[in-house]
Amino acid sequence: MPSTESEPPSGNIMEQIVSLAKRRGFVYQASEIYGGIRGFWDYGPLGVLLKNNIRDHWWRAMVECPPVGPDGSPIDMVGLDSAIIQHPNVWKASGHVDNFNDPMVDCRETKARYRADHLWTAAAQVRRKNGNVETLGVFSVLSGDDAGDLFVKRVDKIARKTGGGEVVAPTDFVPFTKLSPAEMAEVVGPDAAQKGTLTEPRPFNMMMISYNGPLQDEDNKVYLRPETAQGIFTNYKNVLDTTRVRVPFGIAQIGKSYRNEVTPRNFIFRSREFEQMEMEFFCPPDQSILWYEFWRDERMKWWKSLGIRADNLKFRDHDDDELAHYSKACVDIEYKYPFTSPDFGELEGIAHRGCFDLTQHQQHSSQKLDYFDQELQLKLKESGASPEDVKAKSRYIPNVIEPASGLTRAVLVLLCEAYRCESRSGVEKFEYFAFKPQLAPIKAGIFPLVNKDGMPEIAQKLYMDLRQQFTCEYDPKQSIGKRYARMDEIGTPFSITVDGQTKDDQSVTIRHRDSQLQERVALEKVSTFLTEKLKA
Ligand code: ATP
Repeated sequence: MPSTESEPPSGNIMEQIVSLAKRRGFVYQASEIYGGIRGFWDYGPLGVLLKNNIRDHWWRAMVECPPVGPDGSPIDMVGLDSAIIQHPNVWKASGHVDNFNDPMVDCRETKARYRADHLWTAAAQVRRKNGNVETLGVFSVLSGDDAGDLFVKRVDKIARKTGGGEVVAPTDFVPFTKLSPAEMAEVVGPDAAQKGTLTEPRPFNMMMISYNGPLQDEDNKVYLRPETAQGIFTNYKNVLDTTRVRVPFGIAQIGKSYRNEVTPRNFIFRSREFEQMEMEFFCPPDQSILWYEFWRDERMKWWKSLGIRADNLKFRDHDDDELAHYSKACVDIEYKYPFTSPDFGELEGIAHRGCFDLTQHQQHSSQKLDYFDQELQLKLKESGASPEDVKAKSRYIPNVIEPASGLTRAVLVLLCEAYRCESRSGVEKFEYFAFKPQLAPIKAGIFPLVNKDGMPEIAQKLYMDLRQQFTCEYDPKQSIGKRYARMDEIGTPFSITVDGQTKDDQSVTIRHRDSQLQERVALEKVSTFLTEKLKA
């Protein structure tokens, strides 16, 4: 059966990551003191540093120092920060009002709600002690790698209540959505005891609604954006009119998006409020495949530059039947999350969107969004094209290539990728995050070996100097071993200790988080040392 995200089984690696991330102030449940709110998360002191580091790394690679294009010249790219709430017609034009739906199934018995396409069903059969095979009914489970196991466990429990026997493992799971209404009425829900309590799937629009102004009526209804991309399309003309960019060029944006996900789950993987990093690249239609392939490769390179192992990343090309009617191609960059492993789950999508979005906004806004390509006009004239051809071809609606990724999903990927659990510091199962130094929330811990003999003064001065350039922490308390361990846990790559020798020869020890090796470095060279080590 296909594998999608599934709830992590208890005691697994995902639980350990979530727990360490909570204990060390990376990610908290939103409104935790009120029991939490489903689908929302708060980023704690270290989480916000990690998230901002990834954000800045993306912004630098996309906007401030974009890659060199296929023709050898740097790409034109500008940034944007558009409003979360836009005119409701934006979402009519984009298709979100009519089509941004997930099929949803409710359970009348448990009141639980499921994504219909995540429900899989199979007949539950047991071999009784007398050898007879008996069908207990049709049961459903949420899809995922462990769905088969969950199914067997569930059926086993019921079998035991009804006289025992061995569960006959299902050979085929059938998607709930493929059943007829009569068959659906026979299914027992994933958490239910009775059959026939699941409703038929019905579309559920995932946009969050609010009201603009004091009157809370239909006329003032607005939507919290479900993606940042539409703010880019609606500003495409503004950017062309007010800056020096010319097609091909890109507009990049990072910001919050909101989706009323039916089943938010797997920690921050699928939440109702999340952050996206999106870029729309506008190009001439006849160059669109070239740019699609270019961005596909560039984006994979970028993920690897975060220190993610190549074998944990892969491309997944969308099949033709997955593509929107206007799209020529779409590929996902997937990561091997602990809850999808050995399979992969989406991290970023790179879509060829054709001229769909700008055409839609042109139609709905009645504003001209086509582009007059002077360079192309010249080229066509020079090539001897007919005046009709020159006229027809040099004015067009650009095609768009869209690399769209989740910033909060990237935080999850880095937490998973950096998580280590090994024997060290005298602890059998010591857990820590081995972030790439450049992305680590804290770059260096600065300690006096003991809080006397002139050591704190030197260490404090070093801290006051270094903190101008690097995110550092000064810590004079507890044993040095405990201080190292605390820094390791939160992923700090370097621990710098002022000790008895420092006064004599003006040097400190620098301990490396991953190897735990120590080296002596001159006090005056510490800043250069860190700069070198923190280079991309
Ligand atoms: P999915 O299939 O996982 O629902 P999608 O294909 O709808 O995702 P896009 O609309 O392409 O996602 O959004 C681009 C990126 O935004 C995704 O690759 C993902 O990293 C991130 N993203 C989308 N939905 C969520 C969410 N609910 N929570 C966290 N990140 C999300």
